[in-house]
Amino acid sequence: MGKADLHTHTIASDGAYSAEELLEKAAEKKLKIISITDHDTIKGYLSAKDKARELNIDLIPGVEVSAVWKSREVHILIYCFDENNEEFRKMLLNQKRARIRRMERIVEKLQKQGLDVSMDEVRAEAGPGNLGRPHAAAVLIHKRYVASVAEAFIRYLSTEKLGNIKTEYVTVKELVGIAKEAGGVLSLAHPGPLYTQDEIDELTALGLDGIECIHPSHNYSLQRTFSKLAARDNLLVTGGSDFHGKGKKDYDPYFGIVTLGDQHVMSLKRMARRRREIINTDQ
Ligand code: AMP
Ligand code: ZN
Ligand code: FE
Ligand code: FE
Repeated sequence: MGKADLHTHTIASDGAYSAEELLEKAAEKKLKIISITDHDTIKGYLSAKDKARELNIDLIPGVEVSAVWKSREVHILIYCFDENNEEFRKMLLNQKRARIRRMERIVEKLQKQGLDVSMDEVRAEAGPGNLGRPHAAAVLIHKRYVASVAEAFIRYLSTEKLGNIKTEYVTVKELVGIAKEAGGVLSLAHPGPLYTQDEIDELTALGLDGIECIHPSHNYSLQRTFSKLAARDNLLVTGGSDFHGKGKKDYDPYFGIVTLGDQHVMSLKRMARRRREIINTDQ
């Protein structure tokens, strides 16, 4: 099969390229298996199917969902779900609405700090994309409040700076139920420096199937730590570059370099198949 990248973003969320452009770039990098994992939307994935066939790329259904756990936002990657599952679609629609309301609260917070920023401006930056903080960062850059996305996050948009912004995102527990009902396989995204080992254990115990061991934010030692954890708990190993495109993130140069071996994709598909079989026999 070849090299896989199971974590990428397009203009359907906060990436720079359309899904088709992304697949063309993936083909240039000789990637054989791709998952488009936009934040809380599958529009990019759905629009990429013909192109994937044309380029002979194995396109794995994917999405990166922002979920709530202990008042924190946790990113969960979901793969191989039934894209027509109604509850799954409903969950994504709720996430989209939650993103809009969350952004309204963020904009209000920025305005209170004296910044001239409006919801309309953030929407204009997002274009067709699901609203996210990088779009607010773009407004701050255009208005010359900051010089870069990194500075926007450090000064205004990081979780620490924003404090407790209320969100209506799905909880991790709810998400596990909905995703599994849709035949999906769940992996904890970029655990990196975000959680302690105990917290990771608690999260995976909620019913996650895997851990994103391979990610550009993980150095070799972290990658090994997570891989050992996955092996200990019989969890899948997933991974990818978290490519957003056009230098939107520091990780962009790692597209085509930070990749996942196809044996892990086979295990993922095997688990998804088994889940579908169980769902089908239950019905
Ligand atoms: P949101 O979806 O609104 O929670 O925003 C999360 C996205 O913001 C991530 O997927 C990244 O693309 C981006 N992001 C988060 N932290 C940073 C940072 N420190 N610098 C640049 N981009 C960031
Ligand atoms: Zn992003
Ligand atoms: Fe993420
Ligand atoms: Fe991501």
